[in-house]
Amino acid sequence: MATSTRVEEVHIVWMTGGLGCDGDTISITAAMQPSIEDVVLGAIPGLPKVHLHNPVLAYELGGDSFMKWWYMAERGEIDPFVLVVEGSIPNEKIKTEGYWAAQGVNPDTGQPITTAEWIDRLAPKALAVVGAGTCATYGGIHAMQGNPTGAMGLADYLGWNWRSKAGIPIVNVPGCPVQPDNFMETLLYLLYQAAGMAPMIPLDDAGRPTWLFGKTVHEGCDRAGYYEQADFATEYGSPKCLVKLGCWGPVVQCNVPKRGWMAGIGGCPNVGGICIACTMPGFPDKFMPFMDEPPGAKLSSGMISASYGVLIRNLRKMTHDAVDKEPSWRHKGKELTTGYQPRW
Ligand code: SF4
Ligand code: SF4
Ligand code: SF4
Repeated sequence: MATSTRVEEVHIVWMTGGLGCDGDTISITAAMQPSIEDVVLGAIPGLPKVHLHNPVLAYELGGDSFMKWWYMAERGEIDPFVLVVEGSIPNEKIKTEGYWAAQGVNPDTGQPITTAEWIDRLAPKALAVVGAGTCATYGGIHAMQGNPTGAMGLADYLGWNWRSKAGIPIVNVPGCPVQPDNFMETLLYLLYQAAGMAPMIPLDDAGRPTWLFGKTVHEGCDRAGYYEQADFATEYGSPKCLVKLGCWGPVVQCNVPKRGWMAGIGGCPNVGGICIACTMPGFPDKFMPFMDEPPGAKLSSGMISASYGVLIRNLRKMTHDAVDKEPSWRHKGKELTTGYQPRW
């Protein structure tokens, strides 16, 4: 569903007050497709004018001049706005005093306004609610087993069937941190949707944009050719497949190896880092300990090693040895041996 009327201005109210490290905000400063500068400076055709309110990137010096946007959003005075949440949401209901995370002070009570309360206030007013990074989307590191805060992701907090007033489900852009262009491209899509120029954003069951998270790390990895040939690294620094060192790429939905990190460069396994599955709802618990070979990989890489992979590698070696030499007719001498047939 696209919103029906064209809007001239859109606000982005970006909360970093959850349990997090601000890493997603820092990450998006490296985005190029599009850059945050292009979005806020009006360089992208067709976009409404965009106002960004982010505590880390703000040029106001904090206090009332910055917080006023939060209150205006709550009162419906900056409509439409997209609510971006960064950091996981602690469960404020599990204790009798104190708080886990907050932003601003309630003028009536003099008490901090918790992150959870801000979400309660703003989510019903937002055109769309977006989770930036794995903490905000699924809970991430802070939501590990044994954590004291009861931290959770946006959909755990608002409900997986939650819809914005425009009918848009929670949009999750996971990653720890989020890949810069993945986030900015998603935000751009929603801004076009706000402008009535895009249909409903396509999301998978975990709320991820389908065009970004529809393939596995393995399917885009520079090292996939080594995997197919059962050629596995046994130590870091090797250019070979990293599955025996703990890479979870074959079962992880993430486009980072294809997209790179900045300007197409980097992308975990491409540059030697095992995929630890940071985009997945089960991260980190279901993928630990990180440095062990994933259980499914033992079987699949073993089967490849035992039969197909070794056969392929040997056949490829024969082909390689043949094509790695110059053809025999390239030599000095009085005789032409290229096979040329004179026609006269
Ligand atoms: Fe930091 Fe990672 Fe959490 Fe983002 S997802 S806030 S980068 S720990
Ligand atoms: Fe797949 Fe990881 Fe090996 Fe790349 S390094 S081919 S993602 S198992
Ligand atoms: Fe996270 Fe793996 Fe994607 Fe790297 S490749 S960003 S570790 S999911």
